[in-house]
Amino acid sequence: MNALEINQLYKRYDNDFLAVKGINLEVKQGDFFALLGANGAGKSTTIGIVASLVNKTSGTVKVYGHDLDTDPEGVKRCLGLVPQEFNFNQFENVFDIVVSQAGYYGIPRKKALERAEICLKQLELWGKRNEAARELSGGMKRRLMIARALVHEPKLLILDEPTAGVDIEIRRSMWRFFKEINAAGTTIILTTHYLEEAESLCKHIAIINKGNVIENMDMKGLLEKAD
Ligand code: ADP
Ligand code: ADP
Repeated sequence: MNALEINQLYKRYDNDFLAVKGINLEVKQGDFFALLGANGAGKSTTIGIVASLVNKTSGTVKVYGHDLDTDPEGVKRCLGLVPQEFNFNQFENVFDIVVSQAGYYGIPRKKALERAEICLKQLELWGKRNEAARELSGGMKRRLMIARALVHEPKLLILDEPTAGVDIEIRRSMWRFFKEINAAGTTIILTTHYLEEAESLCKHIAIINKGNVIENMDMKGLLEKAD
């Protein structure tokens, strides 16, 4: 089964700008997949559509067999998204941010508390659970975004520029963490404009340019081509 299938996806924004122009993409279950491309290429638009944050103009999207048009709840259950911007309430405490996300997925209270504890421990934020989010460093806020996205045990995790603005040491530890959860079975798609990040993490890579996929190959193929 494919974790993600995108067919003939188009997005025209209200200002008439065509940001996505017929993208086709398949991501296999268990894959670690990079969407690489310059700023403005259409990466965030594409994953925003998959995560129901952006309305598509046309085309089909399926996540683990759930069609976004006919079964958006099925898509929502399978998917965890870490967007670029910190969109939690800065005044809420770390624990409550993760617990209330579990509520968004309809997870019962007892289970929500358990999952929040597990995710915060995984991201090494358990010691910060009673602090307001605004007290955290940038790297910790990033990790909080990830802990929150994992609370409902998504099969597909989408990371939009996950290490943007993070220093190299924290970046490396985040990379290790992503590899671990991928090895444990979570399919991961990340967007990045750093080839190095894609190279060190990903098994497959698609390059998006001006709203189209211009390359789609396994990492080995890309490295050979670069030689
Ligand atoms: P990337 O994530 O690859 O940097 P985006 O998907 O954010 O690219 O943007 C693709 C293109 O669509 C860019 O040219 C951007 O300016 C444009 N765009 C993004 N959001 C909007 C919007 N809400 N309205 C109009 N144009 C947009
Ligand atoms: P409201 O309904 O209060 O306007 P939102 O609909 O923006 O707020 O979302 C409330 C919370 O639900 C957000 O803070 C976010 O954590 C979560 N959320 C919203 N949309 C998504 C999504 N597509 N995927 C995962 N979480 C989401």
